[in-house]
Amino acid sequence: MSDLNTVSCIGSGSSCAADMDKEYVASTYNRFPVTITGGKGSVAYSSDGREYIDLGSGIAVNSFGFCDEQWAQAVEAQLRRVQHTSNLYYTEPCARLAEGLCIRTGMKKVFFANSGAEANEGAIKAARKYSHDKYGDGRSTIITMKNSFHGRTIATLAATGQDSFHKDFGPFPAGFSYCEPDDPENFFELCRTETPAAVMFEVVQGEGGVKPLDREFIRAVCDYANNNDILVIVDEVQTGNGRTGALYGYMNYGIFPDIVTTAKGLGGGLPIGAVMLGEKVKGVFTPGTHGSTFGGNPIACAGALSILERIDDCLLCEVRKKSKYIFDSLSAVDGVLSVSGMGLMIGVETVKPVSQVISGCLERGLLVLSAKSRVRLLPALNIPYELLEKGINILKEVIST
Ligand SMILES: *Cc1c(COP(=O)(O)O)cnc(C)c1O
Repeated sequence: MSDLNTVSCIGSGSSCAADMDKEYVASTYNRFPVTITGGKGSVAYSSDGREYIDLGSGIAVNSFGFCDEQWAQAVEAQLRRVQHTSNLYYTEPCARLAEGLCIRTGMKKVFFANSGAEANEGAIKAARKYSHDKYGDGRSTIITMKNSFHGRTIATLAATGQDSFHKDFGPFPAGFSYCEPDDPENFFELCRTETPAAVMFEVVQGEGGVKPLDREFIRAVCDYANNNDILVIVDEVQTGNGRTGALYGYMNYGIFPDIVTTAKGLGGGLPIGAVMLGEKVKGVFTPGTHGSTFGGNPIACAGALSILERIDDCLLCEVRKKSKYIFDSLSAVDGVLSVSGMGLMIGVETVKPVSQVISGCLERGLLVLSAKSRVRLLPALNIPYELLEKGINILKEVIST
C-alpha cells in the first residue's frame, strides 16, 4: 500500500486524475479535459470547482441523473443486505425485476447480463438456438441493419453494420448479413438468399447518428418475419427504459418483438443488461446453455427495479413534452440543419463541426455528446425544465455563433 501511496498524487491538483489516466488506462477513449468528481441530478461537478449542466447522462445511463436519492437508497439498502450470491441461489431483486419487466412488456422470461453487448450476445444465442432446435443446421444468419451498432465483443461487432468497426479485428464469426435501412425490398431479398434465423435492429439508430427507422419499414420487416418464423430482435440498449417517450422504443411502432435487449438506462448507473424473451423463445435457454457470473446481481437489480417502477405514464408524458420543447427550440436556430430522434434521444445536425460545438458547450458549462457528425442529446428523463432551458439556450448560442 505504501508504495502505491507514494506514486499516487492525491492532493496534487486537478490534472492528477487526467495525467494518471493518460499514463495507465488503455487509450480506448478520447476523453474531454474534465474530471468529474460529483454530481446531483442533471448537474455535474468537476475537480476544478466548475459546474456543468448535463445533457448526456453518461450516454443514456443515469436515467434519473447523478446520485438520485430514491435510486441511491434502493442501491444502498441492497448493498447492506447482500451484494452477490452467484446464480446458484435465488435472490429477490433479480426475481422481482424480471417479473416487473415481463408485466410491463408482455415478454415471458428475462436473462440478465451486465452490458448491452452481452445482452445482444444472449439474444443472438437465443435466436440461433431457437432456429437450431426447430429447423436444424443452416438457418443461423442474423440480418442486421447497415449503420447499426450492437456492441464491441467480436460477435456483436460482427452484428454491427458499419465497416469502420470491423477493420483490424477479423476474422469474425460467420452468419451476419446487413440490410439497407428503410429498404424493405432489400430485406425480403436477404431473407430469400440467407434463410435467416432472426432480424435485429434499433428502432432509432443511436451511435449511427440518432436516426429513427421508417415506420413502414419496421412494420413490413416484422410482418414478413412473423409470417416466416424469423425472430424479431429489437436492440433497446439505448432506446429503452423511457428514453423515447415509451417504456421501450418498439412500443411507439405497434410491433411485438420476439426478443428485446436492453442495458444502459435500466441500471440508472450500475452495469446491467437484460434479454427479454417472448412466447416463442421463452423455453430456449435450459440449464447450462447460457450464463453469467455477475448477471442478475442483486445490487444492480435493486437499483434497476427502482428505476423501472418510476418510468410510469406521468414520467413518459413529461419525456414527450420535453422532447417537443427541444425539437421546437432547436429547429429554427441559425446553424441547425436538422433535428432527428425521438423522446429524449435527439440528434442535431449543425453547420459547425460537432467537435467545435461540444468544446464550445464545455467552455460554457454544458455537457453534450456526439453521434457520427451530429450533436447528441440524452438528458436525464427527469431533468428539471429550468436546467433543460438553460442548457438548450447555451447550445443554441454555441451553434449559432
Ligand atoms: C451502447 C449500445 C450497445 C453496447 O452496450 P455496452 O453496454 O457498451 O456493451 C449496444 N447496442 C446499442 C444500440 C447501444 O446503444
